[in-house]
Amino acid sequence: MLSDPKMQVPFFTFREFPAGLQQRVEEALLTELRKNHLVLGPAVAQFEEEFGRYLGGGEVIGVGNGYDALVLCLRALGIGPGHEVVVPANGYIATINAVQQVGAKPVFAEPDPQTYNLTATSVLPVITPKTKVILPIHLYGQSCELNDLLDLCQSHDFELVEDFAQAQGTLYAGQPVGTFGKVNATSFYPTKNLGAVGDGGAVVTQDAAIAHWVRQYHNYGQSRRYEYAQAGINSRLDSLQAAVLTVKLVHLPDFNAERKRLASIYQQALADVGDLCLPSTSPAATDHIYHLYVVRTSQRDALQQFLQEKGIQTLVHYPVPPHLQPAYQHLGYRPGDFPLTEELATTSLSLPLFPGMTEPEQAYVVEEITAFFS
Ligand SMILES: *Cc1c(COP(=O)(O)O)cnc(C)c1O
Repeated sequence: MLSDPKMQVPFFTFREFPAGLQQRVEEALLTELRKNHLVLGPAVAQFEEEFGRYLGGGEVIGVGNGYDALVLCLRALGIGPGHEVVVPANGYIATINAVQQVGAKPVFAEPDPQTYNLTATSVLPVITPKTKVILPIHLYGQSCELNDLLDLCQSHDFELVEDFAQAQGTLYAGQPVGTFGKVNATSFYPTKNLGAVGDGGAVVTQDAAIAHWVRQYHNYGQSRRYEYAQAGINSRLDSLQAAVLTVKLVHLPDFNAERKRLASIYQQALADVGDLCLPSTSPAATDHIYHLYVVRTSQRDALQQFLQEKGIQTLVHYPVPPHLQPAYQHLGYRPGDFPLTEELATTSLSLPLFPGMTEPEQAYVVEEITAFFS
């Protein structure tokens, strides 16, 4: 007989953090709704400008979601059939699908064993004469070692495209990520560190010509009203999402600081528990805002089951790597081709961590993980 858990701890939930935020989000939504300008209105322009300022420069183009933002980045660079794009083997499927969508070939590279991020060293073995773009993900919220990747791109004439969907506000050498690549993509999916109340995304670039192209292409290719310079797509950030994002952007530093604080509590409390391998931050110029707090253990499935029975929800990011997904069989990869990625898929577990998580909740998670291993 299972006894009732002492507490239920969700993996993620919206808590009012900081106080008063929910009311301001609701007010912003209502105000925007009543203005009756729901697509490409002034609220979108305002958010684009403020997010650009937050990132320290460059142009932001709000789009429908993070996946579309990635597709737009690749199309803006003219990537298509015959081209190869290097992606992390342990990445999220959206990134890989975007490469496939434009007709290019995703080429997987193993991550660094400490940070789980792509590095110049891990990319080198998979580059070919067809390689055009290196597309790293700042995975789980930690910045990649960008200097080395930028050097590699420069010496080989590749373009760098950053997927910073999990890393809004993460710094690299003191500068926000999403501003290093030629053109970069992020997502405002509700659970991201800067999340909307529905789908949303953005393309970020310092290149005025690329910004101009994306601005046309994401809105049917419209150059002037009812004049279409190219056959573009429809992928726009709507005004309601933009209004919410403008309100939440002000608190992004608070959200990220709170995530870091919660992560440091886990780091201390779980340091010597069982065979747990905790997130390690690379010493150099990188930063980690803990979009996800991912631990590893050889007893992953048993630990997840145990915590489930104790009312603690955890997730696995990600249980089956892209190269072993049915969707990518045509690439011809086989089990064993990416040993580290495959090991990560069987050992990783993401613990609950979100702004507004309470001290008793976190203490309970620590207590039960400790109990599992003792
Ligand atoms: C969430 C996410 C995306 C996709 O974003 P959507 O807005 O859901 O399309 C892409 N890449 C990474 C790394 C993500 O975490």
